Amino acid sequence: MTTTVQDHPYRIRVAIAVFIFDLIEYEVTPEQFEQATIGARVAVPFMNKKMIGIIVEKIDCHVAFTQPFKLKPIIKLFKEPALFDQQCLHVLSWAAHYYQSPIGEVILTALPNILRQGRPYHLLSYYWKILEPHNEAGDEIKLPKAGSKLYAAYQSIKLHKKGASESILNMSGVSTNQLKQLEKRGLVEHFMQPIDFSPTPMQLAQMPLDANAEQDIAIKKIRKALGKYESFLLDGITGSGKTEVYLQAIQTALERNKQVLVLVPEIGLTPQTVERFKARFLTDTILLHSGLTDSQRLQAWQQAQTGKASIILGTRLAIFCPLPRLGLIILDEEHDLSYKQQDMFRYHARDVALYRAFKQQCPVVLGSATPSFESLYLVQQQKMTHLRLKHRAGTAKPPSFKLIDLKSAEKQHGLAKSLIETIRQQLEKGQQVLVFINRRGYAPVLMCTSCGWQADCPRCDAHLTLHYHPRAQLQCHHCDLIQPIPTSCPSCQSTELKPIGSGTARIEEHLQELFPDYPIFRVDRDTTMQSNSWEKVYQRAYRSGAAIFLGTQMLAKGHHFPYVSLVTILDIDAGLMSVDFRAPERTAQLIMQVAGRAGRGQVAGQVLLQSYRPDHPLLQTLIHEGYAAFAEKSLAERKIAQLPPYRYAALIRAESQNDLFNLEFLQMAAQIWPNFGNTEVEFWGPIPAPMQRKAGSYRAHLLMLCSSRVALQQQISLWWQWLFKQPRKFELRIIIDIDPQELS
Ligand code: ADP
Ligand code: ZN
Ligand code: ZN
Repeated sequence: MTTTVQDHPYRIRVAIAVFIFDLIEYEVTPEQFEQATIGARVAVPFMNKKMIGIIVEKIDCHVAFTQPFKLKPIIKLFKEPALFDQQCLHVLSWAAHYYQSPIGEVILTALPNILRQGRPYHLLSYYWKILEPHNEAGDEIKLPKAGSKLYAAYQSIKLHKKGASESILNMSGVSTNQLKQLEKRGLVEHFMQPIDFSPTPMQLAQMPLDANAEQDIAIKKIRKALGKYESFLLDGITGSGKTEVYLQAIQTALERNKQVLVLVPEIGLTPQTVERFKARFLTDTILLHSGLTDSQRLQAWQQAQTGKASIILGTRLAIFCPLPRLGLIILDEEHDLSYKQQDMFRYHARDVALYRAFKQQCPVVLGSATPSFESLYLVQQQKMTHLRLKHRAGTAKPPSFKLIDLKSAEKQHGLAKSLIETIRQQLEKGQQVLVFINRRGYAPVLMCTSCGWQADCPRCDAHLTLHYHPRAQLQCHHCDLIQPIPTSCPSCQSTELKPIGSGTARIEEHLQELFPDYPIFRVDRDTTMQSNSWEKVYQRAYRSGAAIFLGTQMLAKGHHFPYVSLVTILDIDAGLMSVDFRAPERTAQLIMQVAGRAGRGQVAGQVLLQSYRPDHPLLQTLIHEGYAAFAEKSLAERKIAQLPPYRYAALIRAESQNDLFNLEFLQMAAQIWPNFGNTEVEFWGPIPAPMQRKAGSYRAHLLMLCSSRVALQQQISLWWQWLFKQPRKFELRIIIDIDPQELS
């Protein structure tokens, strides 16, 4: 049956969280059409289920239209203002399209959970005030017993003569339950009042520092760009005072009544970072990150969305938060991989930030001590303004580097003796030492010394990691499989099973043995699960006195260790040997980030790296000439190989129980590419993924490289949407990753 425009004169296009690339159309009555607000919620039927969606478009009868099926009417409109403004919807739609993700999923991902569930969006809030303690007959109502908790609550409310909002009272320790109890007794009453979303004018709580010459140039350039689009790469070594540049640029934006969005990596949102922003400005500052409860998230989001909050500090998803007064975007540690979402909606918050700033016509500042090659390439092309801070701010000096050759060095527990000696000297001088090893657990391999058997994950191409704490077990770090530790070799029954290599836990044991008189603080995923373990680390890091901090890359990011004078990096060889063409870039970034923790206070820092490949050209350039020289050389190599950022990449991965199905499907995908246009791409593969088996599935991929981003984009859309609809053998799962960051 074909229906025509006459059958559906009024329609709306709705985003709902289903795996369909397009918006879905529904029929509305003329009254509903009138009332429907773009960006507000609507309840609609989908596959016999009621779903909550966002209205993205309204279409009236003047647009020609034929549909092969009849449109369904909506269930109800939500009486609420737009939750997303047009600008934000536009950015979300762009991102969905660019990353080949279903638009409904994308838009609803950006909505706080409570609103996704269809619960009301409050613009009114509960207020509470004291009543005269008499009933209608004039008899006195008894107050709660003096000294009781309820009495204290009553006294708190009494302080607010005209009443106070429930959230203010909650914050001052009066629970909602207590309010209800007091209301039941007739001592207090509630009333509804609009929430005050007017922004608080910004005040400085702390004077800005005197910017040095380099900072001054950077600050002035960013300030000058306020009110229009310009992208900046703030390329400054660790400790060069990038944060001060952000703060002074933010100040000007706030003075102009703008909102500022500050993005930080997943684990960079430390109390230290938040403190620095809060200490400078007296204004509404909110945090948006994955650790919030649903109601905390809604509250923070609403502050941002209404324009109440002026500074929004968040992790990657915050890039999609509606911000009506947005005037400046800052993305700190822009090279950090946590800006790229690695599953489902595989967006890169840095690229979305650039697009959003452009649409909004506001400046965007990407900051890093180790800029991504993508950003350096934009600088080369003069699409991004390069701001450099080459010197450390204040009095701290950059650290010095030294390589230790593990092939010839005398070793104890995998640590070079000279490294142990240097640690000892520093501790004896009362200094703090940071020991970095990017591997958690006790040992990466459990091996039988009789026959060479190794404990492997039955579901992945990987060894199981040996853990002793909190439980003695073997763990797969790729699929979370857990197994008991065998007492004898399953292959030859020998009981000579030995841990090979070291993770953080084993290094901790060795260090304890070597330096029994000094405190050791370990930071990795296993220790930070225990509450207040970070707390302890901070407390110690800000107090002088010898100590060892030991950990994975969690230690390296965003944290300050003012008393650390020595950084030791135990194992980076894996990064030098990887097949991923981005591995050298990542390894160099990691080394520089870890090294940046040294000597941030008064003492000059040193960095010791031990490696079996000390002559590796990457290491040599990096430590003798610095990150900029390293990046320049590596970029030249990428240019010769025409690898990203010189070409644009997309990756399709297939996963199934049978690697032949994967390869067959990807082969077909490559073959039909020309049916969808004439964009020239180079296909690499299909080939088995570097980790061919993971969590019980075989994985293979096809990498595509193209010199035009736009052309690739256009043809990929048609091709991918067709591919996605093809019937597939068995459980063959396919995903697409635009601008992939990892070839795992
Ligand atoms: P980055 O973010 O580049 O690693 P920070 O902003 O953390 O650097 O600055 C490093 C240290 O230098 C901080 O203690 C900061 O207070 C100090 N600092 C920054 N700018 C100045 C300045 N202009 N004068 C004096 N000290 C400064
Ligand atoms: Zn054996
Ligand atoms: Zn596994």
